[in-house]
Amino acid sequence: MDSTQLAELLFPNVTKTPEDVEALYPKRNLPEGAKVTRFAPSPTGFVHFGGLFPATVGERLAHQSGGVFYLRIEDTDAKREVEGAAEGLIRTLARYGIHFDEGASLAEDGTIASKGDYGPYRQSERVDIYHVYAKQLVKEGKAYPCFTTAEELEKMQSVDKKSEIKAKEWTEEAMAEQMAEMRRLREITLDEVKEHLAAGDPFVLRMLADGDPEKKIRFTDLIKGNLELPENDKDEVLLKSDGVPTYHFAHAIDDHLMGTTHVIRGEEWLPSLPRHIMLFRYLGFKLPKYMHIAQIMRLDENGNKKKLSKRDMGANMDDYFKLGYCADCVCEYVMTLLNSNYEEWHTANAAKPYTEFPFNIKKMSTSGCLFDFNKLNDVSKNVISRMTAEEVYAKYMEWASIFEPEFAGLLSADPAKAKAIFSIGRGGKKPRKDFTTWQDVKPYMDLFYNETFHQVDAIPEQYAKEDVKAFLSAYLANCEEFADNNAWFEYVKTVAEKSGYCPDVKLYKQSPEGYKGHVGDVSTFVRLAVAGKLNSPDLFEIIRIIGGEEAKCRIQNFIDN
Ligand code: GLU
Repeated sequence: MDSTQLAELLFPNVTKTPEDVEALYPKRNLPEGAKVTRFAPSPTGFVHFGGLFPATVGERLAHQSGGVFYLRIEDTDAKREVEGAAEGLIRTLARYGIHFDEGASLAEDGTIASKGDYGPYRQSERVDIYHVYAKQLVKEGKAYPCFTTAEELEKMQSVDKKSEIKAKEWTEEAMAEQMAEMRRLREITLDEVKEHLAAGDPFVLRMLADGDPEKKIRFTDLIKGNLELPENDKDEVLLKSDGVPTYHFAHAIDDHLMGTTHVIRGEEWLPSLPRHIMLFRYLGFKLPKYMHIAQIMRLDENGNKKKLSKRDMGANMDDYFKLGYCADCVCEYVMTLLNSNYEEWHTANAAKPYTEFPFNIKKMSTSGCLFDFNKLNDVSKNVISRMTAEEVYAKYMEWASIFEPEFAGLLSADPAKAKAIFSIGRGGKKPRKDFTTWQDVKPYMDLFYNETFHQVDAIPEQYAKEDVKAFLSAYLANCEEFADNNAWFEYVKTVAEKSGYCPDVKLYKQSPEGYKGHVGDVSTFVRLAVAGKLNSPDLFEIIRIIGGEEAKCRIQNFIDN
């Protein structure tokens, strides 16, 4: 068949050639070794924790090498598209430090805009470009139309799926039948094409595969190492019957034109790789380097490893924000999962941000990383404990203004006070670790505000209420302002002794008979009254921040009630 004629029949309106298109996408002018990476999500819903992985790797590799990281929206499957998903994912990714140099971005009015010279970055806006290459492939005899009625099309697609999934269940006969059908479709004549076109029949464009699955392709994946994959003999659909390309076809053209050097994606794409390699060859494109990231696993109730699926807790990145996880902590956690030596580096470089860590592809796990909330919580606590009070205040307020607006209002009425509270136990070698998520802030801090202060704990059973009252009354009798923690504690000890408690714990342990208890017990009484609970940050710090008068007031109330 005359393939040039066929190409004209199928794409009469395509007048550009691949050379015309290439001229619009010049080679990028980047330093030696700079990597060009992309995140290429389909806008079908939220950002999955597993999606943050390739995004983080892409971002790190590009920015670490002085390259370019761009966002491409792969929206060729209109049926699966969710409205607002593209906008949502740009926002979510930004929260996790994923910023793009180029690509789809948010305009001020919240709609998607395009930034950079290699766009458009939304596949639905690139259909004309794909058709130029589709026409070229037909011209070169590497692709052919497959005419069907919509019904037949559906039937065929289900056969395709079946042949992939249940290949083993197929009988020899059924396979032979399928092969014969494929051959028949491949051998369509020009006259048949004309007839179909005249009748207005839809067609899909298929690639004419030249592979033999008995033979193997050798391939090196930068994460998985050396692989051997069977050659492709599947006539992959390149254009669907509405002229829209499939992911396979579109991504090859885009990655080529946009100058992608490294394709970083989930390992679920590995089985498609032979088709992609073939496609790059057919199109005359240089194959980019590939990194297929292992799927994220979780442990189920029985301790077995399972894939972290869409519905699992921890899958939806937007949930982390709602739950009050600080984005910096999640990023740190992702780094610990991505590079086995990250924690070691971090211990040695505690003050440096994770972006200074020399991310290394070779340190990535080839099998699935295990997602674990306990580990995330651990990382979270540590990261927040090392932040300055100023940082904690800013980050907490961002969250609280949405999820705890009333409490946020209390804090913002006196930022200096809020920061003084956040400063307690911060900055030393062993900082306090009170916060795992921002949900922990209010229960920790509410005692500092009269509006939210409440009695959490009651007097423990081992103490007689009358003794507690008597001590607190004695405490109030000569209580004044104290210069510092020492002066205050000396006062507590004096009152303790006068009230029959031993001012020295060691001494008390030697001869407990002579006392009602020791200075630790009476401190508990003061704590219960002033903080409303048995566990609280440093008591003198609390008194200092709420003020001596307020502390006395709380003690008097406690005695009265
Ligand atoms: N659109 C594909 C996905 O969402 C992208 C795969 C790739 O990065 O090439 O899985």
